[in-house]
Amino acid sequence: MKPIKTLIAALALGVLSLSTPASAQDKGNVGIAMPTKSSARWILDGENIVKVLKARGYSTDLQYADDDIPNQLSQIENMVTKGVKVLVIGAIDGTTLSDVLAQAAKGGTKVIAYDRLIRNSPNVDYYATFDNFQVGVLQGQSIENSLKLKTAKGPFNVELFGGSPDDNNAFFFYNGAMSVLDPYIKSGKIVIQSGQMGMDKVSTLRWDGAVAQARMDNLLSAYYTNKRLDAVLSPYDGLSIGILSSLKGVGYGSGNMPMPVVTGQDAEIPSVKSILAGEQTSTIFKDTRELAKVTADMVDALLSGQKVVVNDTKTYNNGVKVVPAYLLKPVIVTKNNWESVLVDSGYYKKSQIQ
Ligand code: BGC
Repeated sequence: MKPIKTLIAALALGVLSLSTPASAQDKGNVGIAMPTKSSARWILDGENIVKVLKARGYSTDLQYADDDIPNQLSQIENMVTKGVKVLVIGAIDGTTLSDVLAQAAKGGTKVIAYDRLIRNSPNVDYYATFDNFQVGVLQGQSIENSLKLKTAKGPFNVELFGGSPDDNNAFFFYNGAMSVLDPYIKSGKIVIQSGQMGMDKVSTLRWDGAVAQARMDNLLSAYYTNKRLDAVLSPYDGLSIGILSSLKGVGYGSGNMPMPVVTGQDAEIPSVKSILAGEQTSTIFKDTRELAKVTADMVDALLSGQKVVVNDTKTYNNGVKVVPAYLLKPVIVTKNNWESVLVDSGYYKKSQIQ
């Protein structure tokens, strides 16, 4: 049969419908649950996954949950009820999804943990993320290099901030950074004047910049009225912005009070601008286009019965099982390499930054 006749025959049989031409190639619906739109990275994540999956013939249902746990739960429940073939989940709280995922598994829905590990559930098939420990190592090294800890005499005053305690990544970032900083703390070259160390003391619920800013205010007034603060470990740009504004509030960054070293993560535009303005020291670039592609490859492989490509089968124990993962490489960004990393790669236009 000629193609046009095939088409007419298909239309007559109701196999194709002109009103929904996409369904002709629809390989299935993928539910994408993202945590929040309050940070640009998650907006880009969502856009990128949808773009890649659509180009490969899938339809998508993308939802954001405003960092509200019950909201995300009901979004995922709806997706399961609709019978999505795969769930891609950037969890708000990685420990609260066990029931809905059990439901999903019953109906044959596959689950990919996106960027953040989903904990306490056997029903997590794969994990697409970055090397989260290495993110922390890069942040720690940024402090180590900027303060020249290997050679300088010190001591230097440093304060530590952690991410949200319900996000598994936050522990990896913290532990990675501490793997670099701990020896200097032990030798006395780094002093934590507040004594606040460990995720139970330094975490920042929901990655909230205002919470970090308030804690920085308190630390400055309690421990640094007559001492200089030399560096702040910050795990995420949204916290760094709050921390920087607290530091500016007491005069850092002007006169004879140079800004302390401040780290970050996600290469968000306000932070890249802050790096160029000589305020924030560094950030970590995680190319969400690559993460979207790895995730789409997992979806494709899962649904076509092929082998899913992973490169880590040891690191991510979610409390029930080790979830096979694909880890991408994070890259440090400073004022020396921002253009080659962020602009030459096409991630941002130069005009968005300068
Ligand atoms: C992500 C980071 C992000 C943080 C706050 C983490 O789970 O891995 O890239 O900075 O959440 O949104």
